[in-house]
Amino acid sequence: MTTKTPITVAYGDGIGPEIMAATLRILEAAGAAIEPEIIEIGEKVYLEGVSAGIRPEAWESLRRTKVFLKAPITTPQGGGFKSLNVTTRKSLGLYANVRPCQAYHPFVETKHPKMDLVIIRENEEDLYAGIEHRQTDQVYQCLKLISRPGCEKIIRYAFEYARAYGRRKVTCLSKDNIMKMTDGLFHRVFDEISAEYPDIEKEHWIIDIGSALLADVPERFGVIVTLNLYGDIISDIAAQIAGSVGMGGSSNIGDQCAMFEAIHGSAPDIAGQGIANPSGLINAAIMMLVHIGQPDVAATVHNAWLSTIESGIHTGDIYKEGVSKLRVGTREFAGAVIERLGQTPNFFKPVTYLGSPREVHPTATLARPRQKKELVGVDIFLDYSSGNAGQLGDAISALSLSPLKLKMISNRGVKVYPDGIPETFCTDHWRCRFVGEQGPGTPITHEMILHLMRLLHEQGFDTIKTENLYSFDGQLGYTLGQGE
Ligand code: NAD
Repeated sequence: MTTKTPITVAYGDGIGPEIMAATLRILEAAGAAIEPEIIEIGEKVYLEGVSAGIRPEAWESLRRTKVFLKAPITTPQGGGFKSLNVTTRKSLGLYANVRPCQAYHPFVETKHPKMDLVIIRENEEDLYAGIEHRQTDQVYQCLKLISRPGCEKIIRYAFEYARAYGRRKVTCLSKDNIMKMTDGLFHRVFDEISAEYPDIEKEHWIIDIGSALLADVPERFGVIVTLNLYGDIISDIAAQIAGSVGMGGSSNIGDQCAMFEAIHGSAPDIAGQGIANPSGLINAAIMMLVHIGQPDVAATVHNAWLSTIESGIHTGDIYKEGVSKLRVGTREFAGAVIERLGQTPNFFKPVTYLGSPREVHPTATLARPRQKKELVGVDIFLDYSSGNAGQLGDAISALSLSPLKLKMISNRGVKVYPDGIPETFCTDHWRCRFVGEQGPGTPITHEMILHLMRLLHEQGFDTIKTENLYSFDGQLGYTLGQGE
């Protein structure tokens, strides 16, 4: 007898219980070797006063099974409730968000009949670290953090995914023409890792033109790998233009755990009526079966589901006069899929799964020697509103700064001193760059910075933040100001 894989299951809120019951019925009929452990999450738990919407015993189940099939939940209105998805992703280290976006033309309306791509979005880094500050009356900042191990993991995962799912091309999207250090690292790691996969075609686009191509000719893409924020935005656009928002599944993959869910929400407007389309959760469950090593069952369910869609047996959300044959509810739709288990679709290409992507580890990082880091300068940010760039620059230059010197001042990244132009609009947030008197790249000490900060403080300047400037193996670890 096959051993059953324990999985943690949450029925969720709204239409959640209906679509989960339908999905589990199909999995059982298909012979999936799973043992569901049911946990309660969502609205009821939130309203009991658990701010994360999930109780400690539910965490225990998740940490034991490491596989989570989750129905959508309703986040109650009002403040104080933390997003369960964000908590789960961060706590379980689910670094890859995987979202296939496929058109099911002519059975489901779409602008792009040939679209069939997968977006792999980095899930843990970027602006989503949530490190934000208000620094002056006028200026707020959000820190964008990108790590080499983070890039390596997600990019390697994308290539492993492409191999495991028989995809021929991986496209990287970044904005490295502007963010040369953070997005630049992502692009560089993409180039490094792609060299290990000669069997897979690769390309890089700047995110803006890449998104435009995605919206115009999505059929030219296979696997797309990108940073957190861009991935968040383009995965919704891609699902929308595929016409499959109501039918798409997604997975969140970590080193140890994984979560699978539909991309739609809990649809409270149709809850309890038995009319919801369970396809999104079915597609998520198919991804789960591949992940837990049951690719044959995954293919059986997927082919039966495709056969049902092409038979014109549709729930109300995709039902279309002239195309659909029979309007069914959630239960009947599941019944139709079960009837077709063992069949392969005629119109759509039958699906086979080779297996799930290999486990991914940031091995290259572990093997890399640490680079020699040297302190070569400091950016001191000031809150200053009593004069213009020239007055600020002259006042600082007049101080006895030796052995450092003021290299430049920028405002919102644009150099305004020396030799600024009067047209540049300036806020109350100024970055003053100090380097050694011998010029950029020469080592300085922390004591010099402390001395400088005391000097500025004694002169009445309001320092809001400092950022040390380093070189790594002799290469500057910071960008130049625009015009520097
Ligand atoms: P929604 O996706 O729940 O619904 C949008 C529209 O699509 C509604 O008209 C709904 O009836 C329809 N719809 C959605 N899924 C459907 C399905 N399977 N079959 C037929 N029709 C379907 O989005 P919303 O209304 O913005 O959000 C409702 C609730 O869901 C909110 O509380 C939100 O926070 C939550 N939500 C949860 C998740 C999640 O748990 N992962 C994701 C998104 C939204």
